[in-house]
Amino acid sequence: MALTKKQRTELKNQLMEEKASLMGINWNRDNDSGFGGDLVDQSTGLTEQELRLELAEHDRERLLEIEDALKRHEDGSYGICLESGEEIPYVRLKAVPTAKYTIQCQEMLERRRFIRD
Ligand SMILES: [Zn+2]
Repeated sequence: MALTKKQRTELKNQLMEEKASLMGINWNRDNDSGFGGDLVDQSTGLTEQELRLELAEHDRERLLEIEDALKRHEDGSYGICLESGEEIPYVRLKAVPTAKYTIQCQEMLERRRFIRD
């Protein structure tokens, strides 16, 4: 079933909110001098500086995914599986608003990737 206008708006807002919150987190992190110690994460052995870089990288990737999804909202391809052209169910988009594939295609692609590696 195609997304209703209301669902579409709701998902777009969800993406915009996550984008804003990511940018807010980055802003605070960059401007926060209160954590400047030499903390080392016990589980990974990474220094705090390294942990921050890791998080920033992760946030950057997430931001790109969100911007990509917003672009698909603009050109009207949002909610359509890039592999099969099927409509991605609303429940899936609600849980993963940046989803580009149906669950079936996602799993198939992951298996293919696994085999190739
Ligand atoms: Zn598909």
